[in-house]
Amino acid sequence: MSFREWFRRPWQLPAVFIVAIVLPAAALSWLAWRTLEQDRALERRNIEERLQNVANAVAAGLDHRLVELSQQLATLPETSGLDLPADSILVTIGDAELTAYPAGRLLYYPSAPEGGRLSDGALVVAESLEFQKQDYPGAAAAYRRFAQSADPALQAAALLGLARCLRQNGQPQAALEAYDDLERLGAFVVEFSPAELTARHARCALLAELKAPELQQRALALFNDLRQGRWRLDRSSYELYTEQVRAWLPPEAALAEDAGALSLADAVVEAARLRQDMKQKAAGGRRSAWLRDRSVLIVWNNVPQQMTALAAGPDYVSRWSEIWKNQNVTVALADPESHAVLGSLPPAGEPHVLRSVIETGLPWNLMVSSANPARELELFAGRRRLALAGLAVIGILILAGGYLVGRARAGELAVARLQTDFVAAVSHEFRSPLTSMRHLLGLLEEGIIDNEERRQRYYRTLAHETERLHGLVEHLLDFGRMEAGKAEYRFEPLDAGPLVESVAADFRADLSSGDRLTVDICTSTVRIKADREALGRALRNLLENAAKYSPAGAPIRLALDAEETSAIIRVHDRGPGITPAEQKEIFKKFYRGAGARNQEVKGTGIGLATVQYIVRAHHGQVLVESKPGAGSTFSIVMPLETGGPAAHPAKSCARDARDPQKEES
Ligand code: ADP
Repeated sequence: MSFREWFRRPWQLPAVFIVAIVLPAAALSWLAWRTLEQDRALERRNIEERLQNVANAVAAGLDHRLVELSQQLATLPETSGLDLPADSILVTIGDAELTAYPAGRLLYYPSAPEGGRLSDGALVVAESLEFQKQDYPGAAAAYRRFAQSADPALQAAALLGLARCLRQNGQPQAALEAYDDLERLGAFVVEFSPAELTARHARCALLAELKAPELQQRALALFNDLRQGRWRLDRSSYELYTEQVRAWLPPEAALAEDAGALSLADAVVEAARLRQDMKQKAAGGRRSAWLRDRSVLIVWNNVPQQMTALAAGPDYVSRWSEIWKNQNVTVALADPESHAVLGSLPPAGEPHVLRSVIETGLPWNLMVSSANPARELELFAGRRRLALAGLAVIGILILAGGYLVGRARAGELAVARLQTDFVAAVSHEFRSPLTSMRHLLGLLEEGIIDNEERRQRYYRTLAHETERLHGLVEHLLDFGRMEAGKAEYRFEPLDAGPLVESVAADFRADLSSGDRLTVDICTSTVRIKADREALGRALRNLLENAAKYSPAGAPIRLALDAEETSAIIRVHDRGPGITPAEQKEIFKKFYRGAGARNQEVKGTGIGLATVQYIVRAHHGQVLVESKPGAGSTFSIVMPLETGGPAAHPAKSCARDARDPQKEES
């Protein structure tokens, strides 16, 4: 079996479609999808590469800032230009001394300074009177003697004792005055606490006892002074005092802790510890500490004499974000325990680059991600859209191509089927007259028919069948010529009326009942230019169809009309009618309607195609109007011959429905 034959088999069509269309389309889609995937991976790699470069630059930038800062610390105090924003504090830590810049920003110190010491036994008499004998007036008098002492330590202790005894003795006003005296000793440290703070705190405690309204104002002032680092306290003293003072204030005063300042103070404590550790070492360093839920950067420079350290909160660090300002990236810094210092981590799945503390030597892990990943991926998305559009176009082309090929193939198969039907129909058309002719000839040959009249009838039948066969062959040959474009026409101006009448007369003669046909002809002359014989053949064809598709004896009407510029010949029957779908097909060669095939009406399917060829050669057209069950009307519409006598025949086309039977008789 050749490929052509194989391909012609109808059931091969789906297989061909799958092999030729679906598989390549699927392969193409897979290929495109793979390419897109690779493209996407490449794009991600490009983005990551960019982020890697930015991350390196950011790490180098941050390192540079830290080194610079460290160097500035080394040259202090000569360097006056060190910029100290609110979120930072600078300290120099010597062996005995710690100095903070700016002075009031440090809330507490790593250790409380040593103050004046009370010489043992100085107040032993007064204390024994107070604590053992509980002789408060006596003790007060004893304390009062020392309250004027030139030794501030003794004076302070005596004033405190005096105030205590006066309170016990029910003399609050006098106690308050003693506190006033104590306060005047100012920052002088007595027993690890400045005299002024001790006095003001004790006064508030007394005012609280007395429920004096003055308390609030005094307590608030004390609280503010504590928060402004007025006194040199260690952490526990600071916390103790602030806690107590806060208790005297109403809750609505909402005196929140300044977490930033507290964390800086903690960082200074941390720096002092570092100083302890490295004492003689000359070294610089940096570290990120997590203090009071905040990250604090500590940068230091240590020489044997002193350490200079800067403690800075996140605000200080955020000023360095200018390093990556125009890089279209988001930078997140996290300390080694993963506390966020700056920025936030990118959502999961988005491209980012990580630089660890170990890699960079920075105090933070560094994470760099794209600031606008959507825009960064836009180029890729655009390219993908383009590829998808291309793919869609290719897909559409493949499908359209497949559809067209399929349709052409289906058309080819339909034509092949029609041709087969045609050959069968033509064979049938030939076979039946030939069979009867052979039979009659046999009878005549044998000479067994002695009846002359019967013999004559047989001869007539033979002549008729021969004529019919000849007509059939002619019809086929004509159709072949028309198809090949070789049909010849002899056009002449003529009156359509007589032509139509003569065709009707011939046709009527062949009908078993002649009055089945009515002819309705416009009485005016309808001039056309036509090939008499060809047009007659076309008309005869329509009449034959009307007769063979209608029930036996059903009326047929033939009419000739003229309108403005055309002559119209209509053949109307009361046959089965034609469905709209079949109306589109019946003019195609070899096409036979379902009714025609099912009811085995004789025919070859080239009648209407022939009619159309002929009418088109006359520059006219064949129209069909039909409804299933309501009969059909076929019309031949042809141009009137210009300049002929019936220039405007429509107005003068008088109707004369003639009864041909009567006319003939
Ligand atoms: P044939 O008559 O040999 O089948 P035609 O080309 O003359 O071929 O007609 C094509 C088809 O059109 C017919 O098979 C039939 O189905 C349909 N047809 C033509 N004329 C009529 C008619 N007057 N009434 C109903 N069907 C018709």
